Amino acid sequence: MVMMLGEPKPEVSVVVENYLQAIFKLKEQEERLVPTRLAEAMGVSVATAVGTLKRLTAQGMIEDATKGKEIKLTPKGKNMAESVVRRHRLAERMLVEMLGLEWHKAHREAHRLEHAISPEVEKLLLQVLGYPETNPFGRPIPGYGRSLGPMKAITESKEGEEVQLKQVPEEDMTLLAFLDSNNIKPGVQATIKEMASFKGTVTLSVAGEDVVLGTEVAQKIMVGPCKGD
Ligand SMILES: [Zn+2]
Repeated sequence: MVMMLGEPKPEVSVVVENYLQAIFKLKEQEERLVPTRLAEAMGVSVATAVGTLKRLTAQGMIEDATKGKEIKLTPKGKNMAESVVRRHRLAERMLVEMLGLEWHKAHREAHRLEHAISPEVEKLLLQVLGYPETNPFGRPIPGYGRSLGPMKAITESKEGEEVQLKQVPEEDMTLLAFLDSNNIKPGVQATIKEMASFKGTVTLSVAGEDVVLGTEVAQKIMVGPCKGD
């Protein structure tokens, strides 16, 4: 990162924030997190990830890795991770709701903005956005979101079941653009029309239109009971 002369050094570097965010998000998916998985998710070599993890340990953000291979955040690290995830998810809301950015681009853009949001601006964003509980992809905003209620993957549903879409994967822009054009978004009601495991597809009915998803994608989309159920 290039620093301008005279610019105050940020307390936590962008690299550290990116690592904390990746750790938080992987743990959100209830994974037992080891350095190789983190390296894969961040697109870096294992050696690079291990080197940065050592720095994070020295800074008191994660527990000493010598105690076992699993990566565990300390209370300080968890606080910082929640802070950057909160700024990221609020930035996504701001981009979509206030600036009208296309939904599928919000996650990528928010990665640039998240590091620049001060506590004061974070507070204002929360107010203006009306204290949202999730980001535009259905992930809870740490510290503000209530429990999202029971959720399961589409692939765990039964044919004929009526569901509410709750969470979609946010990393793949091409997939998001497809989901957007078929109205596969959090809050939308859908019916599970066909579970065809023999051909590896699930067909949903959304507002009278059939949408065919591959099983691999359907496994990553979370649904809950319909409102009023
Ligand atoms: Zn995101």
